[in-house]
This record gives sequence, C-alpha cells and structure tokens, in this order.
Amino acid sequence: MQPLFLYNTLTRKKEEFKPINPPLVGLYVCGPTVYSDVHLGNCRTFISFDMIYRYLVHIGYKVRYVRNITDAGHLEGDRDEGDDKFAKKAKLEQLEPMEIVQKYTVGFHDVMRAFNNIPPSIEPTATGHICEQIEMIKQIMDKGFAYETDGTIYFDVEKYNKDFSYGQLTNRKLEELLEGTRELSGQDEKRGRLDFALWIKAKPETLMRWPSPWGWGFPGWHIECSAMSSKYLGDVFDIHGGGMDLQATHHTNEIAQSQACNHKAPVNYWMHTNMLTVNGVRMSKTAGNGFLPGELFTGDHPLLERGYSPMAVRFFMMQTHYHSTLDFSNEALQASEKGFERLMDSYNTLQTLKAGSSSSEDIKALQAKCYEAMNDDFNTPILVAHLFDAARIVNSANDNKLSLTQNDIDLLKSIYQNFIFDVMGLQTEEENSKANDVLAKVMSMVLDIRNKAKVDKNFPLSDEIRNKLTDAGVQIKDGKEGASWKI
Ligand code: AMP
Ligand code: ZN
Repeated sequence: MQPLFLYNTLTRKKEEFKPINPPLVGLYVCGPTVYSDVHLGNCRTFISFDMIYRYLVHIGYKVRYVRNITDAGHLEGDRDEGDDKFAKKAKLEQLEPMEIVQKYTVGFHDVMRAFNNIPPSIEPTATGHICEQIEMIKQIMDKGFAYETDGTIYFDVEKYNKDFSYGQLTNRKLEELLEGTRELSGQDEKRGRLDFALWIKAKPETLMRWPSPWGWGFPGWHIECSAMSSKYLGDVFDIHGGGMDLQATHHTNEIAQSQACNHKAPVNYWMHTNMLTVNGVRMSKTAGNGFLPGELFTGDHPLLERGYSPMAVRFFMMQTHYHSTLDFSNEALQASEKGFERLMDSYNTLQTLKAGSSSSEDIKALQAKCYEAMNDDFNTPILVAHLFDAARIVNSANDNKLSLTQNDIDLLKSIYQNFIFDVMGLQTEEENSKANDVLAKVMSMVLDIRNKAKVDKNFPLSDEIRNKLTDAGVQIKDGKEGASWKI
C-alpha cells in the first residue's frame, strides 16, 4: 500500500495516515440535523466523505463508518440560546417532533441514495443514546469540568483551559476567543462566556425531554457526537470529519468534552470539507440560498436555468478539491455535465476498442498517477484530469491515431472501474436506469402479493406490507385501477 497523506486540521499539516489498528479504520462524520431537508451544501460534505470512505476501502482498509443523525438538542443559536429547532418545526407543521425527525430522515436517505452515497456502517441517533450522553456528562462533572445551575449543566471552559488547550483545533488562544463573545449579563446562568450546555433543563413547554439526575431536560448538541463516537469507535479513533463551519464550536467542544472525560485527545486526524457557496455566499438554510437536491434535479428553483442529473452534480463536486470552496453556478454545472458525458462516452468506446499489436502509451504510469493524486489528500480534481487523459487515449485509439495492446485496454478498464465508479462513486446513466428498472419490477411483485392478501382477506398482511413500505419511504395509493406507488 502506498502511503496516503491527508490534511489534518488539528496540526495544520498534511500527514501520512497511520491508523491506530490497521487494517481497521474508525471514521466518524457529523450527520444532518433532521428538522428540515438537507440542501446541496450539506450534500457536498456528505458526498466528499463518501468519496473518502470509498477510497479508504478501495486501498484495503476495513472502515467502520459512523455518521450520526441529530434528532434532538439542537437550539437555534450556537451558544445555547433560542428555541429548539425540532419543537419549532413541529409546531409549524402541526406534527409531533418525532414525526419531523422521521420525515426528514427518510428524505435525507432518499437524497443520499440519489447521489449514490454508500450508507454508513452505523447511523446512530441522539435520541437513541440519551443514557450514554448522561453517563458522559456525569463523568465530566466527576472530573470537575462541569457545573450545575438550576437543572442545566454547563461545561467550564476556562477551568478546562488551565489543563488543556481549548482553542487548539482552530489555533486560537482563549483570550482571542473570549474577545469574540458578549459579556455575561446578571441573568446568565453560565459562569464563563465560553461555557456551553451539556444538559439543558426542560421548560414547561419543552416537548422532547428525558429524565436525568438533574431533572427533566435534554442533551446539548455537542455531547451526542462525543458520546456516540466513543461508544462505537473507542475513546481514541482515527478520523473525524464534518464541514468547516463545525470547527470553531461543535468540534472544539467535542474535543473538550472527550478530553475532560478521559484525558486523551479523542481523534488523530480531523478532516473538514470546505463550503459550497452561491455567488460567494455560503449556502445555508438561513441565507435563503440553499436549494434542495430535488429542486436541482427538476430545475424548479429561481437560481436554476434547468435541471441537472445527480451524477452530473456529483461529478461537478469531484472537480474541486474537498478542502477548497466550491461556488455554484449554472455555467460551471453545465461544463461539468459536458465533461461527465465526455468521460462516459469514452467509457462506452473503451468497451468496443480493438487491441493492436503494439503499445504507444504508458497506461501503467497513468494508473500510478491516479493513485498519486488520491494519496495526496484525496485530490479528485487532479484525478479527473488524469481520467480525461485516459479518455483522450481511448478516443485516439478508436480513431487509429495510436495503438493499445489488450493489456493496455484491460488496464484502462480497471482504471475506469476503480476511479470513476468505485472511488468517485459515479454511475452511468444506464446503471441508474437499471436500478430504477429493478425497483419497478420489485414493486410490482410486492403490490401483487399485497393484492393477493387483500383478495384472501388477509388484512393484517396487506397492512403490514403498506406500513413497511411507508417506513422505507414508499407511499402506496389504492385506486380503482389497483395500487400505485411513489417514493
Ligand atoms: P447541519 O444539518 O446543518 O448540521 O449540517 C450537516 C453538515 O453539512 C455539516 O457537516 C455541515 O458542516 C455541512 N454544511 C453545512 N452547510 C454547508 C455548505 N454550504 N457547504 C458544505 N457543507 C455544509
Ligand atoms: Zn457532530
């Protein structure tokens, strides 16, 4: 295995990747907050980590990939103020908070599937790990780094900073961080301006609440990732990822919590994806420039000239390094779409290419360059440049302008398979439609079985089929002509 170098936010250097326990790799990625649909910016982060996961697997690692679902404890402000996002949305949509969670989790999975992202090995939820979070808070309190004020538990940042370095991830001193925060007022429950909540006391109107040693309440946002990552990957694990916007608060607080708990730095390599922007402004729910993947596919959004296929969008993302900002524009997407078509056309040409008796190209060197690009901090734009070179060779061979042996052709086929499909996770349109064909056949079979159950008056079975399909995100509609379905 060639050495793999990756940029570590913590040390601000590219470092050779050395897992704690090879060939096992622990990878934790902060997942979505499921109180609304994910926008394309969120997708960029998840697609980048999907590519990183795919490459680690491709080069022989056995990766335990954990990506959580934040389904509780997310307040509007970064610093424990504002309303609970889930409760607010539940009120707005007149649903139970857990209906909100279910609805947007199903939607998130649909989007991930559309982009051909591989599901993580474990997808834990915050609400499913309340006990673990309470246990961790208790330990932090026992170690003296947290205090209680009227049923709410705060992490004591200044005390922690005496023993450890709170601002290490963003390379900031405590004094600098303090400068950026507002003064505490007499009514504040916190002792220090940077202190953050580990557990928040429920108000009478709080809908999502759990019992704890400090009364009814709910966990702060940051503690879920510390509790779940250590549960599934251990107190110290290999890679932790997320978007760059999480560095200063969420990830800084995760490090503090874990380190306060067991005096060990929890993560060896911190990796952060850069932001997707629109006209230079970060795409976000609050900026109002966050269009949804569904809108992107149909073109139904004022910012979009027309719709784009999920694979064209994925390719667009691969053409920029995950660590650089990526600005969305119709022109850039259309250029990517053309590039992707060119690559796919050459893939089809490659399947019919006839071997010659001599070789005029060094395909082995080309393959080595592809690995070199990926081993250099997952440099997909350079990889894509090499793949365009491969496409040029294929097209020239097809035009008899150069000659390739059968070995060359076989090697080119494996380069396409490995890098375009396995590592970058792209699919041919054909594969996409093949998957849809299979789905249509399976659904028709399931509806036939359900219909037969109804004819036999086996209503528990027909209801069970409907409910299980609903859970899987498939809606059944019974009509005069029989049942129809939609995702
Ligand atoms: P959220 O659901 O807001 O917690 O975000 C889910 C993930 O998307 C986090 O890892 C964020 O860092 C990431 N993210 C949010 N906005 C963007 C953006 N504009 N570009 C790339 N990643 C983003
Ligand atoms: Zn997290």
